[in-house]
Amino acid sequence: MGDDDYDQFYKVVLVGDATVGKTHLLSRYVKSRLPKAPTATVGVEFATRIVQLSNGRKVKAQIWDTAGQERYKAITSTHYRRAVGALLVYDVTKETSFKNAAKWMEELRQSAEPDIVIMLVGNKVDLADKDPASRQVYYDAAQEFANQNGLFFYETSAFTDINVKEAFERLLQEIYDQE
Ligand code: GDP
Ligand code: MG
Repeated sequence: MGDDDYDQFYKVVLVGDATVGKTHLLSRYVKSRLPKAPTATVGVEFATRIVQLSNGRKVKAQIWDTAGQERYKAITSTHYRRAVGALLVYDVTKETSFKNAAKWMEELRQSAEPDIVIMLVGNKVDLADKDPASRQVYYDAAQEFANQNGLFFYETSAFTDINVKEAFERLLQEIYDQE
């Protein structure tokens, strides 16, 4: 597909606590590989990918990563401006990252488009699969939080490539369907 051959343009932002795997998810999705270490200070603001939805429509997704400013309220307004979708990421092995999802959700609804479509993503499910005792956030609890707040929800692994494409593309599809 050519670079300018698309029907819709969507800006999507990644949010969530530091170290939940945002940069790894983006790299996995856009480049089909994991980032070259170290990732915490990578200066790349966004990556783009043209995606064909199941209805045949082509969407250009411009996906914005954070560059280590994950402290609450530290992310600049530029990050959120005109974002129509978000991946709100937590780590299934880190309870605090899930607790903070509520704060990230509020910040999104205040700073991005008010009707922003949000995909809640529980990342690092490979760790919970390998060692069930490491899981701190249960699937059902996250699904319930998602249902209560009108979010879509997937558990993912950037490492073993579980549900990464599915989470990004379901989000794009839902943005398309909402318009
Ligand atoms: P960010 O701060 O949210 O951008 O997180 P990073 O993408 O930099 O990842 C933080 C750390 O988590 C790194 O050490 C990664 O190797 C690790 N990580 C990211 N995704 C996964 C995953 O799906 N599974 C596991 N086991 N580790 C991950
Ligand atoms: Mg990062």
